[in-house]
Amino acid sequence: MTSQLQVTVVGCSGSVPGPDGPASCYLVEAEGFRALLDLGNGALGALQRHCSFGDVDAVLLSHLHPDHCMDVLSLYVARTYDTSGGYPSIPIYGPEGTGAHLASAYGRAEHPGLSGCFDFRNWSAGAHHIGPLMVTVAKVAHPVPTWAMRVEHGGRALVYSADTGPSAALVDLARDAQLALFESSFEEGRDDTAPGALHLTGRQAGEHAREAGVDRLVVTHLPPWNDKAVSLAAATAAFGGPVELAASGTTYDV
Ligand SMILES: [Zn+2]
Ligand SMILES: [Zn+2]
Repeated sequence: MTSQLQVTVVGCSGSVPGPDGPASCYLVEAEGFRALLDLGNGALGALQRHCSFGDVDAVLLSHLHPDHCMDVLSLYVARTYDTSGGYPSIPIYGPEGTGAHLASAYGRAEHPGLSGCFDFRNWSAGAHHIGPLMVTVAKVAHPVPTWAMRVEHGGRALVYSADTGPSAALVDLARDAQLALFESSFEEGRDDTAPGALHLTGRQAGEHAREAGVDRLVVTHLPPWNDKAVSLAAATAAFGGPVELAASGTTYDV
């Protein structure tokens, strides 16, 4: 058990699972408590390299695009039908309508939906005490309701951008955090005509991290069609501090 705040990248492929790992999922641990930030396609498989699906205490969903929430259905199947069984209901935080959305994806009516296994709770702006973690959420710039998350424990903070275009709310949320996991889906030049409230480029991720004054930047949510070196170079030039590419399996002591 670790008392220090840790985060493990379970999956970080942008928009779809990639050849080197699943879509978005980050395992946050402190004092033996385990929370997943997002649970995108394919992530339940890779998660089992780090803990059992029975060890998950809470799931915190940023938004309801498939690459961020679809493996909640796999977690439901695993926790319901695992013959070693007896798993308690766990909370799932998400945008309004998360329970109904996932019930529909599973082919169920909203009631009973996936209740019994999960207790769905709606995000509201501000701070939420979840186990030993303080989780502060803020709405960011994406076509569907999307919450970026700041997770704090023991005086340390990590901030996960979720999916977002340029966002002053993200800069405010990330102020002075030790670790920023910021998405960098777009490339300068290639995606310049895309809508603004969608994704960040590597340069924009670096600028947001610099403005927020974070210690360390990890660029993430790179789709398989990106050249990772381009995203990393753009973020590094804009941030002016240490930048890494997220990789499935990497653990950070925050
Ligand atoms: Zn995404
Ligand atoms: Zn999205």
